[in-house]
Amino acid sequence: MKDKLHFYINGKWVESESNERIEIINPANEKLIGRVTSGTKEDINRAVSAAADAFKTYQFTTKEDRIEILNNIIAEYENRYDDLVKVITEEMGAPTWLSQKAQASTGIKNLHETLDALKEYEFEKKEGDYTLIREPIGVIGMITPWNWPMNQITTKASAALAAGCSMVLKPSEISPYCALLLAEIFDKAGVPAGVFNVVNGYGPIVGAALSDHPDVAMMSFTGSTEAGIAVAQASAVSVKRVHQELGGKSSNIILDDVADLEKSVKGGAGHCFLNSGQSCNAPTKMLVSNKNYEKAVEVAAQTANSTTVGDPQGEFRIGPIANKPQYEKILRMIKIGIEEGATLVAGGVEKPEGYEKGYYVKPTVFANVTNDMTIAREEIFGPVLSILKYDSEEQAIEMANDTEYGLAGYVQGEPVHANQVARKIRAGQVIINGGARGTGAPFGGYKSSGNGREHGLHGLEECLETKAVIMP
Ligand code: NAD
Repeated sequence: MKDKLHFYINGKWVESESNERIEIINPANEKLIGRVTSGTKEDINRAVSAAADAFKTYQFTTKEDRIEILNNIIAEYENRYDDLVKVITEEMGAPTWLSQKAQASTGIKNLHETLDALKEYEFEKKEGDYTLIREPIGVIGMITPWNWPMNQITTKASAALAAGCSMVLKPSEISPYCALLLAEIFDKAGVPAGVFNVVNGYGPIVGAALSDHPDVAMMSFTGSTEAGIAVAQASAVSVKRVHQELGGKSSNIILDDVADLEKSVKGGAGHCFLNSGQSCNAPTKMLVSNKNYEKAVEVAAQTANSTTVGDPQGEFRIGPIANKPQYEKILRMIKIGIEEGATLVAGGVEKPEGYEKGYYVKPTVFANVTNDMTIAREEIFGPVLSILKYDSEEQAIEMANDTEYGLAGYVQGEPVHANQVARKIRAGQVIINGGARGTGAPFGGYKSSGNGREHGLHGLEECLETKAVIMP
């Protein structure tokens, strides 16, 4: 890749007045990939103005028009699939197999989920003595992170397009290239000029300018809880709707009646390490009864030791951490785990053999973790699993809920029993006995994990206003 200095505004690739550049580093080897422009408030003003103009007509497009646009995007996304895989691997370090099978493919899945929801959706219906009309909310400002870049951008953008909204996206300044590639895809697919705009830059400058812009009706944010709070505070002045997908610290409760303990522990640990642990819903806290504890620790350590780490272009299960600040944070958290008295049973702070350059972290497992330790409470966002011991099921549920977060939960056990336990977990999504998030299932958090839900029908409805028309 090379320098991509233009922004996509009003259907054109335009220059910014800013000469400031952001260097994009390949996390696999710490080499410069290229540079993007660090945008300004003026760039946001231009992009919002284009989006506001486009909204004047796009809001009145028909359901059929929007279905056609989404279908065109899917076709063009498929054409550019290999390019997306390459870009994702290069800029955020996901191994090629993961970029192919999960990172890039979530885009297709999300577009289809939204398309299916749109086909079924009734934007207008008669209720009693009034007509209920769901209308697009207006210009949506979108801010996204680097860990599952195509997942986050496509779920937001497809929902906005389906609802009849226009948008301005500020992608992560750490992995901006795939958002620029998506702009090319949208352009080719015939998304009307001004409906989708992209401005690169830093959160506290460009993200803040978007959040407090009076002509932006809603902010849709995915990222850390701290930045999500800043976006909500800036948005409050103009009474915007704020959608937040924030951090997580999700528990995986392994019940005593689990059918296959070894398989469940292996699956849970593997899920924690996937994408080098950089998933907001990763099951990073494994809760196991006294009876099964030793065996679980042994299996989790084996799983960590057999999870290969290395060059994302090679045949490894996990690649590097996506960027230097995150890499340093993970090492800091591992050191804190050791200092606070948890037992390190796999991994640690040393790089895997043969890698002097690159932000590689070995899958790490801590045993004898208690719920008051930092590694049990704070989001690490790396391949680090904490295993906690419980005396009773009630205590396990209490430990799972004793967190500021509430994004996801995992329960493994006899299905009817596991289902009962799932009802007691305070989180937006609970997965029983493994597997991925359900197609079209709402995704979002309780407590400090956020507000609102994304995907399918739920994402579409976030972008709508409600009007009642009453006629005697
Ligand atoms: P981050 O909060 O540092 O950055 C996310 C985005 O917010 C970036 O585009 C950044 O430029 C922007 N930003 C930062 N400060 C801002 C400000 N003051 N105003 C406006 N925008 C600002 O997070 P990150 O390091 O990119 O991503 C990791 C975090 O994202 C983790 O906490 C993770 O849990 C969370 N995350 C949540 C979900 C979810 O769906 N709940 C999904 C993925 C990641």
